[in-house]
Amino acid sequence: MKVHEYQAKELFVERGLAVPEGKVATTPEEAEAIAREIGGMVVVKAQVHVGGRGKAGGVKLAKDAAEAKAKAKDILGMDIKGLTVEKVLVTRAVDIADEYYVGIIMDRATKQPMFIVSAAGGMDIEQVAAETPEKILTLAIDPRYGVKPYQLRKLAFGISTDPVVVKGVSKALAALYEVFMACDASLIEINPLVKTTDNEIWAVDGKLNVDDNALDRQPKIAAMRDMSAEDPAEMEAKEAGLSFVKLDGNVGCIVNGAGLAMATMDLVQYFGGMPANFLDIGGSSNPDKVVTAMQIILRDPQVKAILFNIFGGITRCDDVAAGLIKATEQLDVHVPIVARLTGTNEEIAREMLEGTKLHPAVTMDEAVQKALELAGGAK
Ligand code: GDP
Ligand code: MN
Repeated sequence: MKVHEYQAKELFVERGLAVPEGKVATTPEEAEAIAREIGGMVVVKAQVHVGGRGKAGGVKLAKDAAEAKAKAKDILGMDIKGLTVEKVLVTRAVDIADEYYVGIIMDRATKQPMFIVSAAGGMDIEQVAAETPEKILTLAIDPRYGVKPYQLRKLAFGISTDPVVVKGVSKALAALYEVFMACDASLIEINPLVKTTDNEIWAVDGKLNVDDNALDRQPKIAAMRDMSAEDPAEMEAKEAGLSFVKLDGNVGCIVNGAGLAMATMDLVQYFGGMPANFLDIGGSSNPDKVVTAMQIILRDPQVKAILFNIFGGITRCDDVAAGLIKATEQLDVHVPIVARLTGTNEEIAREMLEGTKLHPAVTMDEAVQKALELAGGAK
C-alpha cells in the first residue's frame, strides 16, 4: 500500500525527522489560507502516488498566499501520469543548498532492509543507478541488531565529508530506519533530503510503501489508504478476489495459482515476450471470476493476445471452460485467446471448447509460443 507524501511526512515527524511545516488542501482557497498561516515562500505540491511530479508541473513555488492560491488552482485537477490531482500539500519552502537521496528497501537478495544513499539527489534515482552507479552507496542492515552508529556514519560519509552534514544526515538516517521498521515498510524514500543554506538537514519529499500483509497490525496506516488514488483495475480485481498486477507487455495472462502465474510470466519472457499482467484467479473455479478477469485484461489497449494457463487440481477445467465461454459471449473479445486447460476434467473442457474461436494448446511451451505468435511475435 502506498501513502501520500503528506501522510509519510506525518509518520516521519513522529520519529524526529525534520520536515517543513505544511497542510493539505483540496481547494485553492484552502491552499491560500494555509500559505497565509505559514507566511513567506511556500511550495504547492500535487499529492498523487507517482514520482516525478516536479517535472510534470505538479510542484510549484509560491512567494505569498495569493500566488499559492493561483498555483493550487493550476495543480488541482491536473492529470499526472494518468492520475487526477485531488489534493495539494502546501508547505514552507526551504532554501536549498544541496539535494541528497536517502532510502531503504526490503532487499530480497540479502533478505534484509537495505539503505540506499547518494549525493546525487533530486534526480531520478533509477537514472543515477543506470548511468553513474558509483554515486550510489548501499548497506544492508541485520534487523536483529538494528542500525549502528558506525553504519550511519559510513552512509553519511558517502554523501558528504562536511562534519555538519555527516551529523545531520546520520540523525536523519537513524530516524528513517525507525520509521521503516515501525511501519512495516517495503520501501521508504526521501528524494531530496536537503541541506539548506543554513546547513540544516530537512526532508523535503517523502515516499512510503507499506507491506499489505502488515496492515492488520498497522491500523493507523491502513486508515490512510486513499481509494481515489489507487489503480482502478487493481481495486476491481481485489474486490473480485483476484490478485492482479498491471505490467507493460502485450500478452494478457490468466492463470490459477500464484506459482503457476509466475512460471507462466517467466516462460513468456523466456520465449522473448512481455506479460501484460500478473493475474491469479485463485484456487476456486467460479466462472464469474473468469469473466471479471477477462474484463479487466481486455480493457488494457496494449493487450494483443490472452493466455489462459489453468492447472486443474481443485479447480475444475470444465468450470473454467464454462467461464471462458460465458466471457466470450458477454464481452467484446477483440484479441485471440489461447487456452491451455490441464488436469481435473480436462477432457470435458476440451469438448466444450471445440468449435469455439479459442486456440487450444496442450503443453505450457506450446501455449506460450502460440500466444506470442498471435500477439505479433516476440519482441
Ligand atoms: P517529485 O518531483 O515528485 O520527486 O517531488 P519533490 O518533492 O521531490 O519536488 C521536486 C523538486 O522541487 C525538488 O527536487 C526540489 O528541487 C524542488 N523543491 C521542492 N521543495 C522545495 C523547497 O522547499 N524549496 C525549493 N527551493 N525547492 C523545492
Ligand atoms: Mn522527489
